[in-house]
Amino acid sequence: MAYEHIRFPERGEKIRIVDGRLKVSDNPILGFVEGDGIGPDITRASQRIWEAAVEKAYGGKRKVHWAELYLGEKAAGIYDGDYFPAETLEAIRELIVAIKGPLTTPVGGGFRSLNVSLRQDLDLYACVRPVRHIKGVPSPLKHPEKVDIVLFRENTEDVYAGIEYESGSPEAEKVAKFLKEEMGATFFDEAGIGVKPISPFGTRRLVRKAIEYAIDKGRESVTLVHKGNIMKFTEGAFRNWGYQLIAEEFGDQTITEQELWDKYDGKCPEGKVIIKDRIADIMFQLMLLRPDEFDVIATTNLNGDYLSDAVAAEVGGMGIAPGANMADYLAVFEATHGTAPKYANQDKVNPSSLMFSGVMMFDYIGWSEVVDVINDAYPKVIGKKIVTYDFARQMGGATTVSTSSFADALIKEINAG
Ligand code: NAP
Repeated sequence: MAYEHIRFPERGEKIRIVDGRLKVSDNPILGFVEGDGIGPDITRASQRIWEAAVEKAYGGKRKVHWAELYLGEKAAGIYDGDYFPAETLEAIRELIVAIKGPLTTPVGGGFRSLNVSLRQDLDLYACVRPVRHIKGVPSPLKHPEKVDIVLFRENTEDVYAGIEYESGSPEAEKVAKFLKEEMGATFFDEAGIGVKPISPFGTRRLVRKAIEYAIDKGRESVTLVHKGNIMKFTEGAFRNWGYQLIAEEFGDQTITEQELWDKYDGKCPEGKVIIKDRIADIMFQLMLLRPDEFDVIATTNLNGDYLSDAVAAEVGGMGIAPGANMADYLAVFEATHGTAPKYANQDKVNPSSLMFSGVMMFDYIGWSEVVDVINDAYPKVIGKKIVTYDFARQMGGATTVSTSSFADALIKEINAG
């Protein structure tokens, strides 16, 4: 399609889907959105790091061709006040893979969060957050090296579906009347009312994605996290539909925890992924006390929102945790923190969250050599205690550097590797 402001680089080739898999040439076009606030600083630094790693891994044989796409404040400047231009969505659909910096949600009535809009409009139904400790990164845990999980959070349903009625509004009164008079529900007058839809369709596609990932990456287990003891027909149903889907589609490749103990005395037969489930509240405790018992986690939207930030804090916090929002093929990788406006354009913050989201992106397109190059160099820089301010304040004797100098140090290590 013809775009008004977006230009695709001429020498790059679009990623395609062939026989149900991504087909990535040696010169793929990847979309990027710079983001607001600290977005430009961390995007600039990260792109330099990714390009150095690609060069190191492939010596010029492969190259990324960036297509800049616009959302947020930069978009508003270009598209006459439109923060969410339709052609950006179209370009992401066309390019299949993109990465974005954080976006401001302008405060004010009726403005949908740009991030939520992006997830909903592109139906990016899985929020994927790998959380593992990198040697040297400050952590509040005694054994942070035991944390190595990938969390799949359902992104489209649950209390985030946006079905909410304000206390005292005619809509809330109407819904309350129906619930009380026709359904026999009891609750206090003037309650605000929210609805929590969780469907077999939404659950099955999320759990399928988590299991496929676990099988593909040779992970040990998948844990379904839910609050089904209290919310039986939503959270409990998520658990039941999850087990059902796994039995139907992955029966040969999986084994339930129950079977593991009943038939195999707790020793997992070769090549099987163990399927377990845990109640959400105990999961927070277990992720602090016995994190090594968990591997891939699949959970509902609200549980996943809380759990992913809590687990990220165990290994260095928001400055480093990467993430992606994915559909069946479309994937938008993103820093998990916000725009930190007080640090905008100060070349100060940690670029690692966005940078590692890019590492996930390279893994997704099959450029695993780039992943290895960065994963090898990063702990060496941290080991020298060359860090941005956020890590420095948790480490004794660190050298505090700017965003761009941190990128320089990492690139130096990449080139030396
Ligand atoms: P935030 O931008 O994540 O910042 C909160 C604090 O986290 C910062 O003040 C800073 O802590 C720390 N931090 C965040 N990013 C960091 C980095 N790269 N390196 C080091 N420290 C970092 O959260 P917020 O202030 O609540 O939100 C600001 C705006 O971002 C809002 O408009 C919100 O809607 C938006 N937001 C966007 C996204 C997204 O685009 N995905 C996500 C969340 C929020 P210290 O002050 O302790 O240094």
